[in-house]
Amino acid sequence: MAVDRTRPTPERMITQNAYLRPHGIYTFSIPALAGRFDDGTPYVTCPAAGVCAAVCYARVGTFRFPKVLAKHQRNLRRILSDLPQWRQDMLAELAAPRFRGGRYLRIHDAGDFFSDAYLDAWLAIARATSGMTFYTYTKEVARFKRLVEPDPPLNWRWVYSYGGKQDHLIAPGDRVADVFPSEAAITRAEHHSNDASDLLAVLGPSPVGMVMNNHPHLRKRIGERTLREWQEQKRSARRHGPGRLNARPCRSEQTQACHEPDLPEERADDH
Ligand code: SF4
Repeated sequence: MAVDRTRPTPERMITQNAYLRPHGIYTFSIPALAGRFDDGTPYVTCPAAGVCAAVCYARVGTFRFPKVLAKHQRNLRRILSDLPQWRQDMLAELAAPRFRGGRYLRIHDAGDFFSDAYLDAWLAIARATSGMTFYTYTKEVARFKRLVEPDPPLNWRWVYSYGGKQDHLIAPGDRVADVFPSEAAITRAEHHSNDASDLLAVLGPSPVGMVMNNHPHLRKRIGERTLREWQEQKRSARRHGPGRLNARPCRSEQTQACHEPDLPEERADDH
């Protein structure tokens, strides 16, 4: 692609937060679930979200800050309006010296790989970037099985996180993560907590356990279930007829925001 020298320097897209910085982890994010841009144009960023949407950390708290949502909407706008240019901009940003020397980029504090083209763009970016490991949580099980699993980039790691519409496509042996009400529940279920570092979700032993975020109304909603159990309840109820699931549907299509680059109290850990 020819370089357009009249184009202003694009806004940086990669950030860091206080929780991930000590581990040398950078992040890139788009808004969670779905929403509308200022001009009313709708978007969907988590088409495979299931019950996770009802307790999504990225739709409450600091993620609701208008400044934060606007930042992640700008990222998404660039992807949707000119994917090749966005890919080029991302590669240019990743060429900065601070990203060399064994750094990690977590793709998505919120949002998911909402299309084949978007996932392909990230795979191409990973293949063209040395010295950086890319990792992600995803509920796009079918898309990953088709586009990633046959030939993943060497510097690409992923974990399938339960709570999505495609949980049933997760196969034995896949790396998986589930959200639990407490660390004790993780231990009882013989999962491996990623509390010490988010990287354990992709580099440590599987299955991975994560503690539900601290928002009281969301903790109440999930109760003592894990996301996997809740999603399975829902699937089972569909098969056998309606039952009481205590799963309030997502009423709002309006995404509430994503991760503030420097907000220590938020953890993007139930994705
Ligand atoms: S938990 Fe993750 S996949 Fe589910 S709605 Fe939130 S950002 Fe999307």
